[in-house]
Amino acid sequence: MDQKYYPTQLETFRQCPLKYKYGKDPEIRDKYRQPTPQLYVGTCVHDALENFFDVTRTPMAARTEERLDLLLRRAWVGADLWTKKKRQRLEEREKIFGDDKDSEAGWGKHALNMLHRFFLTADLTAVPFTAEQFHEARLKSGIIVAGKIDRIDRLPDGSMRIMDYKTGKPPFKKDDDSVAAEDLQLSTYAIVVRKKYRAPISRCSLIFVAHDEEVGFTPTDELLIGKAALIEETVKAIEAETEFAPKENHFCPWCEYRKICPVGEGIEAADTTPKEDLDLPF
Ligand code: SF4
Repeated sequence: MDQKYYPTQLETFRQCPLKYKYGKDPEIRDKYRQPTPQLYVGTCVHDALENFFDVTRTPMAARTEERLDLLLRRAWVGADLWTKKKRQRLEEREKIFGDDKDSEAGWGKHALNMLHRFFLTADLTAVPFTAEQFHEARLKSGIIVAGKIDRIDRLPDGSMRIMDYKTGKPPFKKDDDSVAAEDLQLSTYAIVVRKKYRAPISRCSLIFVAHDEEVGFTPTDELLIGKAALIEETVKAIEAETEFAPKENHFCPWCEYRKICPVGEGIEAADTTPKEDLDLPF
């Protein structure tokens, strides 16, 4: 079977070849990539939003804040997942929180607050074209790129808008050009969606769920040609790589492989405790 390349993997390789190598080794990955409350919140918020915008599960008239709150709680215990996925969700929950109900309540409240803010500020009438779906396409070079796209909306003019939900903080002052220059994920999705549906892409957006903030860009032909060349260059570099040397970068304090990396072992872990929460009565 042809190998598929995911933009997050390509970005990881460009950031640090050793981190990429660790991530490709199932034994190392399972040992060191531990579930975290932040990731758990992110997964549950994504699930809640997927079910909220799916008209077969939540009819338009039922799009209330109470419904969104309930969907988050159901996602927390995997209530709408198939058996295997549900078991994995519950195992993760147990690993992260165990008997620490106070910690779990704090993170749950954090997730609910995030969705509360989203409910107050987002367009609640949207009917996504696809949500949380895998898409893939073969580039001219023969490379297959793929990804799970949080949401694609088809706009009245026939164009597509690609959205990626973020549950962290938005970047400080990012204009469209700088986001487009640094991004590989959204532009890869734009290439895939354009090839698959033959539709123009009007906007690639990062939606910061808790902050009523969108950053993104309009992908021009020139930009996407450049990104396709970057994908090809990165895939060639991966295929030619033999050393996978560590490359220190500003994400090292968050790297799950710090303890086994010759560069990362001396780097202090980032403090990931949420520093602020929204002042809400629940
Ligand atoms: S700690 Fe830094 S240098 Fe080491 S693997 Fe992680 S990202 Fe790479």
